[in-house]
Amino acid sequence: MEKITVAQVFAVQQFVDELDSEKDRVREVMTAEIGRADQKYRDQIWDLEREKREVVGKLEAARDDFVRGMEAKIVEHYAVIKRVQRILECFRMPTARPLTIPDEVKLGQYAFQFQECLGYLVDDDMLKVKIFIVGNRKPKNHLTLVAIGRSIFTEPLIKFPQGYGLEIDTFGHRNSLELGLRDAGSAEELKEYYARHKSDILKPAIDEYQAVKAEYLDTMSTYKLTDFELLISWRCPKCNNFRTTYESDTGYRSDEAPQCYHHDPYVKMEKTIVYDTTQKLTIKV
Ligand SMILES: [Zn+2]
Repeated sequence: MEKITVAQVFAVQQFVDELDSEKDRVREVMTAEIGRADQKYRDQIWDLEREKREVVGKLEAARDDFVRGMEAKIVEHYAVIKRVQRILECFRMPTARPLTIPDEVKLGQYAFQFQECLGYLVDDDMLKVKIFIVGNRKPKNHLTLVAIGRSIFTEPLIKFPQGYGLEIDTFGHRNSLELGLRDAGSAEELKEYYARHKSDILKPAIDEYQAVKAEYLDTMSTYKLTDFELLISWRCPKCNNFRTTYESDTGYRSDEAPQCYHHDPYVKMEKTIVYDTTQKLTIKV
């Protein structure tokens, strides 16, 4: 076995130290290079990200502007169709509907007691509203001031206020308006309240009715249903009820006509629809 000398140990130690410092030096150089490469790509990625955000942002803004513009245009042009749909609804109002309201409201199914009729609040040719005092089921304030109204106008032209829980039997007649106005402990109190508030009770509904009535009369003097014949898809031979091309026929078998509310079948309107293609819109992107 060869003997190791101290000189040998020193030599090896020196060599190892040199290797070690060379390792550290080169590692630092390489680490710096890695850092530079990393930074370079980070900067590039950052620039690309910014560029991407700008490009995508511009494209998105352009698309959203376009969509908004088109939507505004659609709404603007659609207003005519909306108007015609409302005109057609005017022709659908049940003008033959009897509006007279009897003075006595029958007892409901429960413990309601008819007390007194205070007469008409509104007595117009297309809307009648009568005011009643009826009993309710509350232990205190056991009387309610109630408004009952009947109009030839229905939804969607107008929606009259409808309270619930009044449980008033009105001879099977569907009321347009049924509303509890106030509860009190005595009829005198309710009468006083009614006298004081006669002009503001139901004011928004009555104002809306007046506006709808004006619109209705204007429509009736301007148009005939035949003006819109091409938009009528079905007609009831019994009453003048109809369905328009705006209402879908779904829910009916194709070989079966839809029915009017009184269960008689509608008659299909045969017609050829000719579209005016000269007015076609051109849309540029
Ligand atoms: Zn009918």
